[in-house]
Amino acid sequence: MQLSKNFSLAELTTTNSGLPNVPDADSIKNLTELCIKVLQPLRELYGNSIHITSGYRSFEVNKAANHGAVKPSQHMKGQAADLNNGRAENIKMYNLIKDHFPFDQLINESDFTWIHVSYNANQNRKMLLKL
Ligand SMILES: [Zn+2]
Repeated sequence: MQLSKNFSLAELTTTNSGLPNVPDADSIKNLTELCIKVLQPLRELYGNSIHITSGYRSFEVNKAANHGAVKPSQHMKGQAADLNNGRAENIKMYNLIKDHFPFDQLINESDFTWIHVSYNANQNRKMLLKL
């Protein structure tokens, strides 16, 4: 199932955890909005394919991603994606998102080891964070 021209549901539900990761209808709607409002326009401006390391996460997948800790996450609602094209490219993508697109949170993770972006149709705070 294609969510936008260059992004599929399979890419946005990828997990290396081996755990079940099936989004409900609301999460698919949120993933589609994330693709249409942020990821697809980013793909077009950036001009290259984008490697998504994590999009939607089920409760179990999110718990595994946090080493067993139960933490709330926009990934669990289908509102967030982690992108990694290598550090230098991650910096480029971060700046393109920051300067051109709506977002709720944009996070520089571990000195641009990857970047996290979330989109929430009801609340796009444009928060820039560094973890
Ligand atoms: Zn993330």
